[in-house]
Amino acid sequence: MHNLTAIEIRDKFLSGEFSAEEIVTHFLNRIEKYDNKIKAFITVYKERAIEHAKALDEKKAKGEKLGKLAGIPVALKDNIHVKGETTTCASKFLSNYTAPFDATVTRLLESEDAIIIGKTNLDEFAMGSSTENSAMQSTGNPWDLDRVPGGSSGGSAAAVAGRLCPLSLGSDTGGSIRQPASLCGIYGYKPTYGRISRFGLVAFGSSLDQIGPFATSIEDIALIMEVLGKHCERDSTSIPKPNENYLENFDVDVSKLKIGVPWAFLKDLAPEAKKTFEEALNVYEKMGAEVVEVNLDILKHSIAVYYILATAEASTNLARFDGVRYGHRSPRAQTLREVYDYSKEDGFGPEVKRRILLGTYVLSSGYQDAYYKKAQKVRTLMIEQYKKAFETCDVIAMPVTPFTAFKKGEIKDPVQMYLEDIYTISCNLAGIPGISIPDGFSSEGLPLGLQLFAPQKEDVRLISIANEYQKATDHYKKIPEFVK
Ligand code: GLN
Repeated sequence: MHNLTAIEIRDKFLSGEFSAEEIVTHFLNRIEKYDNKIKAFITVYKERAIEHAKALDEKKAKGEKLGKLAGIPVALKDNIHVKGETTTCASKFLSNYTAPFDATVTRLLESEDAIIIGKTNLDEFAMGSSTENSAMQSTGNPWDLDRVPGGSSGGSAAAVAGRLCPLSLGSDTGGSIRQPASLCGIYGYKPTYGRISRFGLVAFGSSLDQIGPFATSIEDIALIMEVLGKHCERDSTSIPKPNENYLENFDVDVSKLKIGVPWAFLKDLAPEAKKTFEEALNVYEKMGAEVVEVNLDILKHSIAVYYILATAEASTNLARFDGVRYGHRSPRAQTLREVYDYSKEDGFGPEVKRRILLGTYVLSSGYQDAYYKKAQKVRTLMIEQYKKAFETCDVIAMPVTPFTAFKKGEIKDPVQMYLEDIYTISCNLAGIPGISIPDGFSSEGLPLGLQLFAPQKEDVRLISIANEYQKATDHYKKIPEFVK
């Protein structure tokens, strides 16, 4: 069952081949068998999921209309709310925090009869690229358990790659869906900023954050986007556009397609990543697409700009964790000042503290013009350079990461870790959609990914262009040996 796509599982549920309870039990058993090694899940909703499955079986027996995601188990990154369940953000600060309401995505998934199977591990507050910054556990990459799954949505990526569930959600502020998807050999999608509601997602960098899915096939990405890509009144940045039909719009004339590549920006690409990337472009060229060069030299500033803006936004977003309103309150504290200081000191890990400090610094009165405002200006220039590039091409292609999954503990310097995001970050800065597509394996057998970007709001078209690649290749079908 776990070798099937989400759509195939749903169809077998609809045809009566599997009951919802059988589906959920199958995946819960797999979690039990493999997750003590992978450590993708922070919480498994055993009873809740079985209860929902039974209710769904009854609904079906009564002949009621079933949703688009009927019977599909879905895992959520543990920074997304499910009412009455914990949302830890993999932080000590929130280890006992219970969500008082459902995130919009949770509500939409359940309204289409998906079954939420649990919450997955992440870098604390989604800050990191390896999931090693989790205060709970370190997740392994199903292709090699000694390696990281990427991050920050490493748990959600490892869960799908390990076939512990067919679909999962992550959040992407600077690459946290696409990078782990690539390192785990599956699809990961970051929609246009505002296409999926952020209501009920714990905020990190609010002008950059987007929720998005992980899946083993492009059809599954399309299906879940049909459900989640909706206007939401509770998110003031939600795009006021009706939801779209992805699966019915899967027709692209590749022979008319122009793919832009910023070769100058990619000049330092390592040989193996370069070769795989060129082979992926070749797949499109063989179908008649034309590869053109685009100028995106400004992207060399993306890491600097991102780590100013994202930390600035994080420092204000995380100010709410003061020991009074949410989560941890230090028992050492005697005075109000100590409540703030000690609660943060005990509750936050080193990376979160580093970002709050950096963010507070770039927003401080003496430095705001030099750092924060300047970074905003460069962000605007990036948006303009992307717009210009899209005048000459339909999509822009890049690798997702410079390297394959690294060993746990290998990257100790935080700045080196920040460089992991060199190819993913600009997509968030520009608010455009980006997809990570499995495009092959290194000589060590580790997955690599192709990344495609489209102009804002062209989510449907981007996914259908990615579908053309899937039709011509089969990298996405490979499953890690250990979980077969
Ligand atoms: N790795 C990036 C960071 O640490 C991106 C994180 C994310 O997208 N949530 O900020």
